[in-house]
Amino acid sequence: MATQIDIEHFLLTVQKAIRNKKVPVVDLIAVQTKDPFKVLVATILSARTKDEVTAKASARLFVRAATPQQLAILSEEEIAKLIFPVGFYKTKARHLSRLPAALAQFDYLVPKTINELLTLPGVGRKTANLVVSVAFNLPAICVDTHVHRIMNIWQYVTTDTPEKTEMALRKKLPQRFWISVNSILVAFGQSICRPVGPLCDSCVLTDQCPKNGVTPRRTKKMATTQNQYTFVSWNVNGIRAIEKKGFVEILQEMNADIIGIQETKAQPNQLSDNLKNIPGYTSYWHSAEKKGYSGVAFYSRLKPVAVHYGLGIEKFDCEGRVLTLEFDSFYLLTIYFPNAGEGLKRLDYKLQFNNALEKHCKQLEKKKDVILCGDFNVAHKEIDLKNPKNNVKNAGFTPEERRWMDGFIDRADYIDTFRMFNQEPEQYSWWSYRFNARSKNVGWRIDYFCVNKNAEKKVLDAKILQEVMGSDHCPVVLNYAQ
Ligand code: SF4
Repeated sequence: MATQIDIEHFLLTVQKAIRNKKVPVVDLIAVQTKDPFKVLVATILSARTKDEVTAKASARLFVRAATPQQLAILSEEEIAKLIFPVGFYKTKARHLSRLPAALAQFDYLVPKTINELLTLPGVGRKTANLVVSVAFNLPAICVDTHVHRIMNIWQYVTTDTPEKTEMALRKKLPQRFWISVNSILVAFGQSICRPVGPLCDSCVLTDQCPKNGVTPRRTKKMATTQNQYTFVSWNVNGIRAIEKKGFVEILQEMNADIIGIQETKAQPNQLSDNLKNIPGYTSYWHSAEKKGYSGVAFYSRLKPVAVHYGLGIEKFDCEGRVLTLEFDSFYLLTIYFPNAGEGLKRLDYKLQFNNALEKHCKQLEKKKDVILCGDFNVAHKEIDLKNPKNNVKNAGFTPEERRWMDGFIDRADYIDTFRMFNQEPEQYSWWSYRFNARSKNVGWRIDYFCVNKNAEKKVLDAKILQEVMGSDHCPVVLNYAQ
């Protein structure tokens, strides 16, 4: 069992370490204005938006609408213009245009309780807690993705959603930290304990921190390389489920050029606007015909010359397993390989899919380089899973699946990019949800970036982001020369 950290010592140490870092914008507005209405509006604007953008948008809006009554005079379009370019500005403009009417029941005063705040448009638990604590200085715990993530890294809680973290903290966090914990850990999470590549080598807690699931930044080689693309692949195990765990914020923090997603488990018409329109990215979706099953997607900052859906084989394409972005010099494919299934019922289907995919890649390769990413649903070698001996008859490690992977690398000449840089054991990308497997690192490496032989020289780095939570898989990364 993990040793329990001294939370008071951790938070006070971090508070001291970040005293010269930027204060989160909502705290700043609270200190400067002491106005609950402005705190509420700024908090709504701040979701999925950088602090600098929130600060400027809030300032522009408050010149025209410093009170609910003044806000009521503005049209939704005027509000949208004033707050652009905050993330999801159209949705937020809609919420803000309805806010004065909702506040009327409270005599145009911002209510002080979480339950009352939750009745207002655009206000979820995180916003409500933040307003109660920051605007009114009353005990409430705002848990944003940084608080949720860092509390789990410290193993102070073991939870899989911010909501569960809030509930767990309400039971054990000393009340004197309830109001301040969010601003402390947001500043710390933005500057030092970053979601991708935390700066453990310069962190004041490095000798005491459990570093649960963390891959510290690499200090050599690729960190400073210019002219490279960053590609990420992530099996999210249900995009609508992971949205509730801060997916949009995590994706923005990763700051990748393209993110390939697997197991979306959703049709495009089931997706929220927030998922379809992440600022800076265009999304592409290939879903299974069966609802809530399989499905792949891309979020891309780069404009492809073409988008290709599937392999051109109906029995595979109806399961939404392959999506390809074509660029001038390469193809990038996001792939969700079939699972051989319980009792290996789908092993034959899987091997057929694998062979069709390999053939497809060899065709593409005649025109341009090929980069494949995704959940291959196979651990290639014994080093790629914790308990190889116990799993030889199980889906994902059968001799047949591994033999195909051997052939894909030897016969088809594809490179498993991660193993170009890392030959260590216990480098996993998937852990069962059962038996606390992730905290014990009892996992499998089944998510890959592979490239054809000719593209090998463009591979600059490959890594696994074990610290990124939200799914039973973690993201894997490829840095690729432009
Ligand atoms: S994970 Fe690294 S950066 Fe984060 S608190 Fe621990 S030592 Fe510090």
